[in-house]
Amino acid sequence: MQLLLQNIKQLVTVESHGKAYKSGGEMRGLGVMEHASVFIEDGVIQWVGPSDTFAGSLGPEADILDASMFVALPGFVDAHTHALFAGTRENEFALRSEGKTYQEIAARGGGILSTVTATRSATKKELKKLANRRLDAMMKHGTTTVEIKSGYGLEPDAEIKMLQAIAELAQEHYITIVATFLGAHAIPPEYKERRGDYIDLVCERMLPYVAKRNLAQFCDVFCEVGYFSVEESRQILKKGLSLGLRSKLHADEFNSIGGTQLAAELHAASVDHLEHVTDEDIRGLKESGTVAVVLPGVSFFLRNPYAPARKIIDAGIPVAIASDFNPGSCMSFSLPLMMTIACTQMSMTPEEAIAAATLNGAAALGLSDTLGSIEVGKQADIILYEIPNYRYLVYHFGSNHAAKVIKKGIILEFP
Ligand SMILES: [Zn+2]
Repeated sequence: MQLLLQNIKQLVTVESHGKAYKSGGEMRGLGVMEHASVFIEDGVIQWVGPSDTFAGSLGPEADILDASMFVALPGFVDAHTHALFAGTRENEFALRSEGKTYQEIAARGGGILSTVTATRSATKKELKKLANRRLDAMMKHGTTTVEIKSGYGLEPDAEIKMLQAIAELAQEHYITIVATFLGAHAIPPEYKERRGDYIDLVCERMLPYVAKRNLAQFCDVFCEVGYFSVEESRQILKKGLSLGLRSKLHADEFNSIGGTQLAAELHAASVDHLEHVTDEDIRGLKESGTVAVVLPGVSFFLRNPYAPARKIIDAGIPVAIASDFNPGSCMSFSLPLMMTIACTQMSMTPEEAIAAATLNGAAALGLSDTLGSIEVGKQADIILYEIPNYRYLVYHFGSNHAAKVIKKGIILEFP
């Protein structure tokens, strides 16, 4: 199957030149072309260049799309979500608007554990149905790859149910899904007095089961006061590594306790949150190859401090932007919205925000060899926006500007 996108008004390639990610000043170099064409065959990009120089041979069945109305960007890669869950928490949102903190609400039985209760009671079919609608909506907003974590089961059966639902969605839905095991999202209430037993359960029963059946590519831990200590996180992540699961970490969200250092030590694929990361921790990431994933929507939604993205970029660390879409701390999966918040509250530029939500998001999932930019040999995940130029996408916030979603070279239609 062939598809030619012709005469694209403005093409933002986010060219990587074969590198896994952009860091430092490279994040401002997006490889922008006017009046460009992209030629796709069997879902893979074959040619990119000025429209008037295209000389490829089109078969009689080839689709040709006049894109002179559109700005084209790579599909967004949302490298951190909790998109599979049951139950919503708008009541907590109301409590927070009256001044209660996330921790106070959690201490009163709200927070992650309220979603755990709802998710444990839901069937796999119900969870899939809920997630399926969210995945459709994500694609409509320009996201073509999404990471989804378990972590609302916190017992073997419910964690496996979540991961099986994610695996089935990955087979059935157009969006590319990457699964992460987050059995260490919180200590479940029944293990409150014997946390060591829960960590043993994660390490000795859940992780081997998940790895053997290939139900996740990554192992993640919520390394935070009241959740998992650095030592506990190290134990769980090392077990995951020994079974072939690369590390991710929720670190420095509310307190700086050394999670980022642990991520660097383990050469984690990504370290996520970083709202309270220290200058020393940032320096420590330099040689690790770890991507710093910032989650602007969480700080916005919880009224928390923002991660010092400017400092992290200036230190030469690759930064990705993700939504952290979840019912407690960010009930939005709009990456353009996250990018606007990154620009207004974290001093990132529109160019850096675009690189962070595409190529660097793919790098945080170890997928930037095939995803995250519009270059020859990469998968054809391309969004066409009806906007005057790419900066407008971040500037005109709160509206969805995506006009056409192309996934693996197929123009998708949404009801
Ligand atoms: Zn998260």
